[in-house]
Amino acid sequence: MFDFDVLKKEMEELEEKGLLVKIRTLESPQGAWLNIEGKKVLNMCSNNYLGLCFDEELKEAAIDGIRKWGVGPGAVRSIAGTLELHNELETELARFKKVESTLVVQSGFNANQSVIPPIVSEEDAILSDELNHASIIDGVRLTKAMRYVWKHKDVDDLEAQLQKAETDGARRKLVITDGVFSMDGDLAPLPQIVEKTNKYGAILMVDDAHGEGVLGSHGRGIVDHYGLHGSVDIEVGTLSKAFGIVGGFVAGKRVLIDYLKQKARPFLFSSSLSPAETAAAIAAVRKLSSSDELVKTLWSNSDYFKEQLKALGFDTGHSETPITPVMLYDAKLSAAFSKRLFEEGIFASSIGFPTVPKGKARIRVMISASHSRKDLDFAVSKFELIGKELGVIK
Ligand code: PMP
Repeated sequence: MFDFDVLKKEMEELEEKGLLVKIRTLESPQGAWLNIEGKKVLNMCSNNYLGLCFDEELKEAAIDGIRKWGVGPGAVRSIAGTLELHNELETELARFKKVESTLVVQSGFNANQSVIPPIVSEEDAILSDELNHASIIDGVRLTKAMRYVWKHKDVDDLEAQLQKAETDGARRKLVITDGVFSMDGDLAPLPQIVEKTNKYGAILMVDDAHGEGVLGSHGRGIVDHYGLHGSVDIEVGTLSKAFGIVGGFVAGKRVLIDYLKQKARPFLFSSSLSPAETAAAIAAVRKLSSSDELVKTLWSNSDYFKEQLKALGFDTGHSETPITPVMLYDAKLSAAFSKRLFEEGIFASSIGFPTVPKGKARIRVMISASHSRKDLDFAVSKFELIGKELGVIK
Protein backbone atom coordinates (compact mmCIF):
# COMPACT_ATOMS: atom_id res chain seq x y z
CA MET A 1 0.00 0.00 0.00
CA PHE A 2 1.14 3.52 -0.76
CA ASP A 3 2.22 5.48 2.32
CA PHE A 4 -0.06 8.52 2.20
CA ASP A 5 1.83 10.09 5.13
CA VAL A 6 4.19 11.65 2.58
CA LEU A 7 1.25 13.74 1.36
CA LYS A 8 0.47 14.75 4.93
CA LYS A 9 4.07 15.86 5.38
CA GLU A 10 3.88 17.92 2.19
CA MET A 11 0.78 19.69 3.47
CA GLU A 12 2.45 20.36 6.83
CA GLU A 13 5.32 21.99 4.96
CA LEU A 14 2.86 24.14 3.01
CA GLU A 15 1.24 25.22 6.28
CA GLU A 16 4.65 26.10 7.69
CA LYS A 17 5.24 28.43 4.71
CA GLY A 18 1.79 30.06 4.97
CA LEU A 19 0.79 28.38 1.69
CA LEU A 20 -1.79 25.85 2.84
CA VAL A 21 -5.15 26.76 1.33
CA LYS A 22 -7.78 27.09 4.04
CA ILE A 23 -11.20 26.13 2.76
CA ARG A 24 -14.02 27.72 4.73
CA THR A 25 -17.50 26.23 4.97
CA LEU A 26 -20.29 28.71 4.30
CA GLU A 27 -23.39 28.44 6.46
CA SER A 28 -25.31 30.90 4.27
CA PRO A 29 -25.66 31.55 0.53
CA GLN A 30 -23.15 33.62 -1.43
CA GLY A 31 -23.95 37.29 -0.75
CA ALA A 32 -22.36 40.47 0.60
CA TRP A 33 -22.41 38.97 4.09
CA LEU A 34 -21.81 35.34 5.02
CA ASN A 35 -22.13 33.12 8.06
CA ILE A 36 -18.95 31.16 8.61
CA GLU A 37 -18.19 29.18 11.76
CA GLY A 38 -21.17 30.82 13.45
CA LYS A 39 -19.79 34.29 12.67
CA LYS A 40 -21.18 37.00 10.36
CA VAL A 41 -18.45 38.20 8.01
CA LEU A 42 -18.25 40.59 5.06
CA ASN A 43 -17.63 38.63 1.88
CA MET A 44 -14.67 40.08 -0.04
CA CYS A 45 -13.48 37.08 -1.99
CA SER A 46 -16.20 35.78 -4.25
CA ASN A 47 -16.42 36.44 -7.99
CA ASN A 48 -20.09 37.28 -7.54
CA TYR A 49 -19.40 40.71 -9.07
CA LEU A 50 -23.02 41.68 -9.64
CA GLY A 51 -24.60 39.83 -6.72
CA LEU A 52 -26.46 37.51 -9.10
CA CYS A 53 -25.70 34.29 -7.16
CA PHE A 54 -28.76 34.91 -5.01
CA ASP A 55 -30.81 36.99 -7.42
CA GLU A 56 -34.58 36.39 -7.21
CA GLU A 57 -35.17 36.48 -10.99
CA LEU A 58 -32.36 33.98 -11.61
CA LYS A 59 -33.61 31.70 -8.82
CA GLU A 60 -37.14 31.76 -10.27
CA ALA A 61 -35.77 31.04 -13.75
CA ALA A 62 -33.81 28.05 -12.39
CA ILE A 63 -36.91 26.68 -10.63
CA ASP A 64 -39.00 27.11 -13.81
CA GLY A 65 -36.19 25.39 -15.74
CA ILE A 66 -36.37 22.41 -13.40
CA ARG A 67 -40.19 22.27 -13.59
CA LYS A 68 -40.13 22.26 -17.36
CA TRP A 69 -36.94 20.31 -18.12
CA GLY A 70 -36.11 18.28 -15.02
CA VAL A 71 -32.81 18.20 -13.18
CA GLY A 72 -30.34 16.54 -15.54
CA PRO A 73 -29.41 16.67 -19.22
CA GLY A 74 -29.37 12.85 -19.60
CA ALA A 75 -25.97 12.52 -21.20
CA VAL A 76 -23.64 14.47 -23.46
CA ARG A 77 -25.47 16.66 -25.97
CA SER A 78 -23.92 14.98 -28.99
CA ILE A 79 -25.38 11.60 -27.95
CA ALA A 80 -28.56 12.25 -25.98
CA GLY A 81 -29.54 15.40 -27.86
CA THR A 82 -29.41 19.05 -26.97
CA LEU A 83 -32.19 20.57 -24.90
CA GLU A 84 -33.88 23.51 -26.61
CA LEU A 85 -32.85 25.39 -23.49
CA HIS A 86 -29.13 24.97 -24.33
CA ASN A 87 -29.70 26.31 -27.83
CA GLU A 88 -31.66 29.23 -26.42
CA LEU A 89 -28.81 30.15 -24.09
CA GLU A 90 -26.26 29.95 -26.89
CA THR A 91 -28.38 32.17 -29.12
CA GLU A 92 -28.93 34.74 -26.35
CA LEU A 93 -25.22 34.74 -25.49
CA ALA A 94 -24.24 35.24 -29.15
CA ARG A 95 -26.59 38.22 -29.38
CA PHE A 96 -25.21 39.66 -26.12
CA LYS A 97 -21.57 39.17 -27.18
CA LYS A 98 -22.27 40.40 -30.75
CA VAL A 99 -20.78 37.28 -32.33
CA GLU A 100 -22.16 34.75 -34.81
CA SER A 101 -22.32 31.80 -32.44
CA THR A 102 -21.41 30.40 -29.01
CA LEU A 103 -20.83 27.00 -27.44
CA VAL A 104 -21.71 26.52 -23.77
CA VAL A 105 -19.79 23.96 -21.68
CA GLN A 106 -19.63 23.04 -18.00
CA SER A 107 -17.14 25.72 -16.86
CA GLY A 108 -14.74 28.40 -18.01
CA PHE A 109 -11.95 25.91 -17.29
CA ASN A 110 -13.55 23.45 -19.71
CA ALA A 111 -14.13 26.18 -22.29
CA ASN A 112 -10.34 26.55 -22.58
CA GLN A 113 -9.91 22.77 -22.81
CA SER A 114 -12.64 22.79 -25.50
CA VAL A 115 -11.20 25.35 -27.86
CA ILE A 116 -7.40 25.19 -27.67
CA PRO A 117 -6.63 21.51 -28.50
CA PRO A 118 -8.90 21.17 -31.55
CA ILE A 119 -7.43 24.08 -33.48
CA VAL A 120 -3.67 23.42 -33.24
CA SER A 121 -1.36 20.46 -33.83
CA GLU A 122 2.40 19.79 -33.79
CA GLU A 123 2.88 21.90 -36.93
CA ASP A 124 1.47 24.95 -35.13
CA ALA A 125 2.55 27.45 -32.48
CA ILE A 126 0.80 28.71 -29.37
CA LEU A 127 1.88 32.04 -27.92
CA SER A 128 0.79 32.74 -24.36
CA ASP A 129 1.16 35.66 -21.89
CA GLU A 130 3.29 34.47 -18.95
CA LEU A 131 0.51 35.26 -16.45
CA ASN A 132 -2.30 33.50 -18.30
CA HIS A 133 -4.76 31.49 -16.22
CA ALA A 134 -4.08 27.86 -15.24
CA SER A 135 -6.92 26.63 -17.47
CA ILE A 136 -5.19 28.14 -20.51
CA ILE A 137 -1.88 26.60 -19.47
CA ASP A 138 -3.55 23.19 -19.11
CA GLY A 139 -5.34 23.63 -22.44
CA VAL A 140 -1.98 24.33 -24.06
CA ARG A 141 -0.48 21.25 -22.38
CA LEU A 142 -3.14 19.11 -24.05
CA THR A 143 -1.71 20.00 -27.47
CA LYS A 144 1.49 19.06 -29.27
CA ALA A 145 1.95 22.58 -30.60
CA MET A 146 5.24 24.49 -30.24
CA ARG A 147 5.03 26.84 -27.25
CA TYR A 148 6.16 30.44 -26.85
CA VAL A 149 5.60 32.54 -23.74
CA TRP A 150 5.72 36.33 -23.91
CA LYS A 151 6.47 38.68 -21.02
CA HIS A 152 3.37 39.90 -19.27
CA LYS A 153 1.58 42.50 -21.44
CA ASP A 154 4.80 43.18 -23.38
CA VAL A 155 3.68 43.49 -27.03
CA ASP A 156 7.26 43.92 -28.27
CA ASP A 157 8.10 40.57 -26.72
CA LEU A 158 4.93 39.14 -28.27
CA GLU A 159 6.21 40.31 -31.65
CA ALA A 160 9.63 38.74 -30.99
CA GLN A 161 7.89 35.43 -30.14
CA LEU A 162 5.72 35.67 -33.28
CA GLN A 163 8.90 36.12 -35.34
CA LYS A 164 10.48 33.08 -33.62
CA ALA A 165 7.37 31.02 -34.39
CA GLU A 166 7.61 32.09 -38.03
CA THR A 167 11.29 31.21 -38.17
CA ASP A 168 10.44 27.81 -36.66
CA GLY A 169 8.05 27.27 -39.57
CA ALA A 170 4.78 27.26 -37.64
CA ARG A 171 1.76 26.67 -39.85
CA ARG A 172 -0.84 28.36 -37.59
CA LYS A 173 0.00 30.78 -34.79
CA LEU A 174 -2.49 30.96 -31.92
CA VAL A 175 -2.05 33.96 -29.61
CA ILE A 176 -3.80 33.59 -26.24
CA THR A 177 -4.23 36.17 -23.52
CA ASP A 178 -6.38 36.64 -20.45
CA GLY A 179 -8.59 39.71 -20.91
CA VAL A 180 -8.43 40.61 -17.23
CA PHE A 181 -5.58 38.98 -15.30
CA SER A 182 -7.31 37.28 -12.44
CA MET A 183 -4.81 37.85 -9.64
CA ASP A 184 -3.75 41.43 -10.50
CA GLY A 185 -6.88 42.84 -12.11
CA ASP A 186 -4.91 44.46 -14.95
CA LEU A 187 -6.10 44.43 -18.58
CA ALA A 188 -4.48 42.90 -21.63
CA PRO A 189 -3.39 45.61 -24.11
CA LEU A 190 -5.85 44.18 -26.61
CA PRO A 191 -5.72 46.86 -29.35
CA GLN A 192 -1.93 46.43 -29.64
CA ILE A 193 -2.24 42.64 -29.50
CA VAL A 194 -4.80 42.79 -32.34
CA GLU A 195 -2.31 44.85 -34.36
CA LYS A 196 0.47 42.29 -33.87
CA THR A 197 -1.70 39.25 -34.54
CA ASN A 198 -2.98 40.88 -37.76
CA LYS A 199 0.57 41.69 -38.83
CA TYR A 200 1.62 38.04 -38.46
CA GLY A 201 -1.65 36.48 -39.62
CA ALA A 202 -2.15 34.82 -36.21
CA ILE A 203 -5.38 33.63 -34.57
CA LEU A 204 -6.28 35.72 -31.51
CA MET A 205 -8.01 34.21 -28.49
CA VAL A 206 -9.01 36.10 -25.33
CA ASP A 207 -10.10 34.49 -22.08
CA ASP A 208 -12.42 37.12 -20.68
CA ALA A 209 -13.62 35.25 -17.59
CA HIS A 210 -13.21 38.31 -15.34
CA GLY A 211 -14.36 40.78 -18.00
CA GLU A 212 -17.75 39.19 -18.69
CA GLY A 213 -20.43 41.20 -16.89
CA VAL A 214 -17.79 43.67 -15.75
CA LEU A 215 -16.20 45.46 -18.74
CA GLY A 216 -17.79 47.17 -21.72
CA SER A 217 -21.35 48.32 -22.29
CA HIS A 218 -23.76 46.24 -20.12
CA GLY A 219 -20.78 44.01 -19.20
CA ARG A 220 -20.27 42.67 -22.72
CA GLY A 221 -16.58 42.16 -21.95
CA ILE A 222 -13.14 43.38 -22.95
CA VAL A 223 -13.75 43.25 -26.72
CA ASP A 224 -16.64 45.67 -26.30
CA HIS A 225 -14.61 47.77 -23.82
CA TYR A 226 -11.98 48.42 -26.50
CA GLY A 227 -14.48 48.56 -29.40
CA LEU A 228 -12.84 45.56 -31.07
CA HIS A 229 -15.89 43.60 -32.26
CA GLY A 230 -14.87 41.56 -35.28
CA SER A 231 -11.13 41.79 -34.53
CA VAL A 232 -10.80 38.96 -31.99
CA ASP A 233 -11.19 35.44 -33.40
CA ILE A 234 -12.09 33.55 -30.23
CA GLU A 235 -13.52 34.66 -26.89
CA VAL A 236 -13.76 32.41 -23.87
CA GLY A 237 -16.09 33.36 -21.06
CA THR A 238 -17.51 32.01 -17.84
CA LEU A 239 -20.98 31.99 -16.34
CA SER A 240 -19.59 31.43 -12.84
CA LYS A 241 -18.41 34.93 -11.98
CA ALA A 242 -20.49 38.04 -12.82
CA PHE A 243 -23.29 35.86 -14.23
CA GLY A 244 -23.57 34.27 -10.78
CA ILE A 245 -24.15 30.67 -11.90
CA VAL A 246 -21.71 28.10 -13.29
CA GLY A 247 -20.62 27.18 -16.81
CA GLY A 248 -18.37 28.48 -19.54
CA PHE A 249 -18.56 29.35 -23.21
CA VAL A 250 -16.65 29.91 -26.40
CA ALA A 251 -17.81 32.76 -28.65
CA GLY A 252 -16.84 33.37 -32.27
CA LYS A 253 -17.63 32.58 -35.89
CA ARG A 254 -20.32 29.98 -36.62
CA VAL A 255 -17.88 27.74 -38.46
CA LEU A 256 -15.58 27.63 -35.40
CA ILE A 257 -18.46 26.73 -33.07
CA ASP A 258 -19.77 24.07 -35.50
CA TYR A 259 -16.24 22.61 -35.66
CA LEU A 260 -15.92 22.56 -31.84
CA LYS A 261 -19.20 20.61 -31.62
CA GLN A 262 -17.40 17.88 -33.59
CA LYS A 263 -14.05 18.10 -31.79
CA ALA A 264 -14.18 19.61 -28.29
CA ARG A 265 -13.65 16.84 -25.75
CA PRO A 266 -15.46 18.45 -22.77
CA PHE A 267 -18.48 18.87 -25.10
CA LEU A 268 -18.26 15.34 -26.55
CA PHE A 269 -17.30 13.42 -23.42
CA SER A 270 -18.89 15.23 -20.48
CA SER A 271 -22.55 15.98 -19.79
CA SER A 272 -23.74 19.52 -20.25
CA LEU A 273 -25.11 22.15 -17.89
CA SER A 274 -28.24 21.17 -16.02
CA PRO A 275 -31.60 22.77 -16.94
CA ALA A 276 -31.54 24.88 -13.75
CA GLU A 277 -28.13 26.35 -14.58
CA THR A 278 -29.02 26.89 -18.22
CA ALA A 279 -32.32 28.60 -17.47
CA ALA A 280 -30.69 30.82 -14.84
CA ALA A 281 -27.95 31.76 -17.33
CA ILE A 282 -30.57 32.81 -19.89
CA ALA A 283 -32.16 35.01 -17.22
CA ALA A 284 -28.74 36.50 -16.37
CA VAL A 285 -28.00 37.39 -20.00
CA ARG A 286 -31.47 38.97 -20.36
CA LYS A 287 -31.03 40.92 -17.14
CA LEU A 288 -27.66 42.30 -18.22
CA SER A 289 -28.94 43.12 -21.71
CA SER A 290 -31.84 45.12 -20.33
CA SER A 291 -29.99 47.15 -17.67
CA ASP A 292 -26.43 48.23 -16.90
CA GLU A 293 -27.29 49.46 -13.41
CA LEU A 294 -25.49 46.64 -11.57
CA VAL A 295 -22.37 47.05 -13.71
CA LYS A 296 -22.28 50.76 -12.89
CA THR A 297 -22.70 50.09 -9.15
CA LEU A 298 -19.87 47.56 -9.29
CA TRP A 299 -17.51 50.13 -10.82
CA SER A 300 -18.42 52.92 -8.43
CA ASN A 301 -17.91 50.54 -5.47
CA SER A 302 -14.59 49.41 -6.84
CA ASP A 303 -13.31 52.95 -7.54
CA TYR A 304 -14.36 54.05 -4.07
CA PHE A 305 -12.72 51.14 -2.24
CA LYS A 306 -9.44 51.44 -4.14
CA GLU A 307 -9.21 55.18 -3.52
CA GLN A 308 -9.73 54.65 0.21
CA LEU A 309 -7.08 51.93 0.45
CA LYS A 310 -4.56 53.91 -1.59
CA ALA A 311 -5.15 56.98 0.60
CA LEU A 312 -4.25 54.85 3.63
CA GLY A 313 -0.97 53.90 1.97
CA PHE A 314 -1.75 50.37 0.79
CA ASP A 315 -0.13 49.05 -2.37
CA THR A 316 -2.97 47.87 -4.64
CA GLY A 317 -0.75 46.90 -7.56
CA HIS A 318 -1.77 47.71 -11.13
CA SER A 319 -5.43 46.80 -10.98
CA GLU A 320 -7.76 48.40 -13.54
CA THR A 321 -10.83 46.40 -12.51
CA PRO A 322 -12.78 45.45 -9.35
CA ILE A 323 -10.13 42.80 -8.56
CA THR A 324 -8.14 44.60 -5.86
CA PRO A 325 -4.86 42.98 -4.81
CA VAL A 326 -3.55 44.31 -1.51
CA MET A 327 0.11 43.54 -2.02
CA LEU A 328 1.92 42.17 1.02
CA TYR A 329 4.60 40.15 -0.86
CA ASP A 330 5.48 37.91 2.13
CA ALA A 331 3.29 34.76 2.27
CA LYS A 332 3.35 34.50 6.07
CA LEU A 333 2.43 38.15 6.52
CA SER A 334 -0.37 37.75 4.00
CA ALA A 335 -1.73 34.66 5.79
CA ALA A 336 -1.57 36.49 9.14
CA PHE A 337 -3.33 39.53 7.64
CA SER A 338 -6.15 37.37 6.25
CA LYS A 339 -6.53 35.60 9.61
CA ARG A 340 -6.80 38.91 11.47
CA LEU A 341 -9.31 40.20 8.91
CA PHE A 342 -11.46 37.15 9.57
CA GLU A 343 -11.29 37.75 13.32
CA GLU A 344 -12.45 41.32 12.68
CA GLY A 345 -15.39 40.18 10.50
CA ILE A 346 -13.95 40.21 6.98
CA PHE A 347 -13.55 37.21 4.72
CA ALA A 348 -10.73 38.00 2.26
CA SER A 349 -8.34 35.26 1.22
CA SER A 350 -4.57 35.34 1.16
CA ILE A 351 -3.19 34.26 -2.21
CA GLY A 352 0.31 32.82 -2.45
CA PHE A 353 2.48 30.57 -4.60
CA PRO A 354 1.72 28.79 -6.93
CA THR A 355 -1.41 30.87 -7.70
CA VAL A 356 0.85 33.96 -7.82
CA PRO A 357 4.66 34.01 -8.21
CA LYS A 358 6.86 33.48 -5.12
CA GLY A 359 7.33 36.71 -3.11
CA LYS A 360 4.11 38.21 -4.53
CA ALA A 361 1.63 37.14 -1.84
CA ARG A 362 -1.41 39.30 -1.38
CA ILE A 363 -4.91 39.65 -0.03
CA ARG A 364 -7.13 39.59 -3.09
CA VAL A 365 -10.19 41.71 -2.42
CA MET A 366 -13.13 41.17 -4.74
CA ILE A 367 -15.57 44.04 -4.90
CA SER A 368 -19.22 43.41 -5.70
CA ALA A 369 -22.23 45.51 -6.66
CA SER A 370 -23.90 43.85 -3.67
CA HIS A 371 -21.62 45.72 -1.23
CA SER A 372 -23.12 48.85 0.29
CA ARG A 373 -21.04 51.97 1.02
CA LYS A 374 -21.40 51.09 4.70
CA ASP A 375 -19.93 47.63 4.00
CA LEU A 376 -16.99 49.16 2.14
CA ASP A 377 -16.35 51.70 4.92
CA PHE A 378 -16.39 48.87 7.44
CA ALA A 379 -13.81 46.99 5.35
CA VAL A 380 -11.60 50.07 4.96
CA SER A 381 -11.61 50.65 8.74
CA LYS A 382 -10.55 47.03 9.35
CA PHE A 383 -7.79 47.17 6.73
CA GLU A 384 -6.53 50.34 8.42
CA LEU A 385 -6.61 48.74 11.88
CA ILE A 386 -4.79 45.57 10.82
CA GLY A 387 -2.45 47.34 8.39
CA LYS A 388 -1.16 49.47 11.28
CA GLU A 389 -1.08 46.56 13.71
CA LEU A 390 1.07 44.46 11.33
CA GLY A 391 3.26 47.39 10.25
CA VAL A 392 2.07 47.38 6.61
CA ILE A 393 1.00 51.04 6.72
CA LYS A 394 1.94 53.90 9.08
N1 PMP B 1 -10.20 31.69 -17.00
C1 PMP B 1 -9.87 32.64 -16.11
C2 PMP B 1 -9.03 33.79 -16.57
C3 PMP B 1 -10.30 32.54 -14.78
O1 PMP B 1 -9.97 33.46 -13.89
C4 PMP B 1 -11.09 31.43 -14.40
C5 PMP B 1 -11.61 31.27 -12.98
N2 PMP B 1 -10.71 31.36 -11.97
C6 PMP B 1 -11.40 30.49 -15.35
C7 PMP B 1 -10.96 30.63 -16.65
C8 PMP B 1 -12.23 29.28 -15.00
O2 PMP B 1 -13.57 29.62 -14.92
P1 PMP B 1 -14.59 28.61 -14.20
O3 PMP B 1 -14.52 28.90 -12.75
O4 PMP B 1 -15.89 28.95 -14.82
O5 PMP B 1 -14.13 27.24 -14.55
